[in-house]
Amino acid sequence: MQVRITVSFPYEAPVSQSLFDRASAVTPGGVNSPVRAFRAVGGTPRFMVSGTGPYLTDADGREYVDLVCSWGPMILGHSHPEVIAAVQDAVARGTSFGTPGAGEVELAEEIVARIEPVEQVRLVSSGTEATMSAIRLARGFTGRPKVVKFAGCYHGHVDALLAAAGSGVATFGLPDTPGVTGAQAGDTIVLPYNDIEAVRAAFAAHPGEIACVITEASPGNMGVVPPLPGFNQGLKDLCAGNGALYISDEVMTGFRVSKAGWYGIDGVRPDLMTFGKVMGGGFPAAAFGGRADVMAHLAPAGPVYQAGTLSGNPIATAAGVAQLRLLDDAAYGKVDAVSAEVRGLVTAALAKEGVAHRLQVAGNMFSVFFTDAEVTDYDAAKAQESFRFTAFFHSMLSQGVYLPPSAFESWFLSTAHDTAAVERIAAALPAAARAAAGATA
Ligand code: PLP
Repeated sequence: MQVRITVSFPYEAPVSQSLFDRASAVTPGGVNSPVRAFRAVGGTPRFMVSGTGPYLTDADGREYVDLVCSWGPMILGHSHPEVIAAVQDAVARGTSFGTPGAGEVELAEEIVARIEPVEQVRLVSSGTEATMSAIRLARGFTGRPKVVKFAGCYHGHVDALLAAAGSGVATFGLPDTPGVTGAQAGDTIVLPYNDIEAVRAAFAAHPGEIACVITEASPGNMGVVPPLPGFNQGLKDLCAGNGALYISDEVMTGFRVSKAGWYGIDGVRPDLMTFGKVMGGGFPAAAFGGRADVMAHLAPAGPVYQAGTLSGNPIATAAGVAQLRLLDDAAYGKVDAVSAEVRGLVTAALAKEGVAHRLQVAGNMFSVFFTDAEVTDYDAAKAQESFRFTAFFHSMLSQGVYLPPSAFESWFLSTAHDTAAVERIAAALPAAARAAAGATA
């Protein structure tokens, strides 16, 4: 399809609108992943046609500073020359072989070298597959049925892990989504995040039944809500004491918040970990890994079946290896620094307009909650004045800054966010803060 590129234009997005109209005719809701549809903030989703460094260009020819970075993967910015070169080199040699390939070994070695608790790793194609496979393996390894997860943590659209909403009766996994049966969700125990006593009580109530506790290493899917001090260690200890596995979902934090992800920050050693996003360099590559004795239960070494036609795809692995090799301490230092700078600008602009807000941080990930109160769980996250985010979001968008189109998502930066990009963000913030201040529910 040829997309018409026009000169820059005001807030309306006629080409995106017409693409969205066409998309809505052939795709449910017009998108292939719900949050892209702008339902939480309203308006026309922008259809992007290219990305370079910290910028995205939409189908109407309008350029944005990108603070979504494809929901995390693009930590080196868009179209990084070395990643593109690796992809071009790989694609010239063929796109999929359905056999083992050297790229898979290189990516697995890169992961194992960076993350000490990962002794063995299996490559898959999405974070959803990684968490789905990890809980299957945990169940197969322990011979137990139940999984503990936390309200507000997202682990992809795995049936058993969609039982999530923090309603009072969610404790025993009532399915949130039509299509997830009671049987699929019935072995999922949903607990409030950061509540270690609830986890202790669940183990007491279900002796010998809990296969694993799965948690986002530091949640970014209800906005950024880091674990309270000792929470992850408490999970690890309770799992160890009760014969269950501790699964740390690092699909979002892995290779983003440090060389070794959140594990590199809190040092709590999981039994299994899941990865995605950054490790694929913008391609569909994900993984799960951990203790060798647990991973040995996976087929063909062991009896727990797991497979994938495109697992370890040569282009995805080439992109992932190239991206990971560029992510040295200096690169993380750069992302951390620009993240701190942007956070400072955001909070100063909102404070100047007297907007109650809390900036919550996990390494270089952060999000803004429109509330005075500290947010430590999903209920607190939902209590914010998200209508203020809507006004803030649209003001930023109209000034060429692309934020996640939801108040419950992390913002993401990259090594490519340079002074010019930060200046554009800074220039947009005062009006956005005024819009947030003046917003009404
Ligand atoms: N786990 C976490 C923590 C995530 O943030 C996500 C996606 O955002 C997933 C799992 C699912 O990954 P994917 O969208 O690649 O299936």
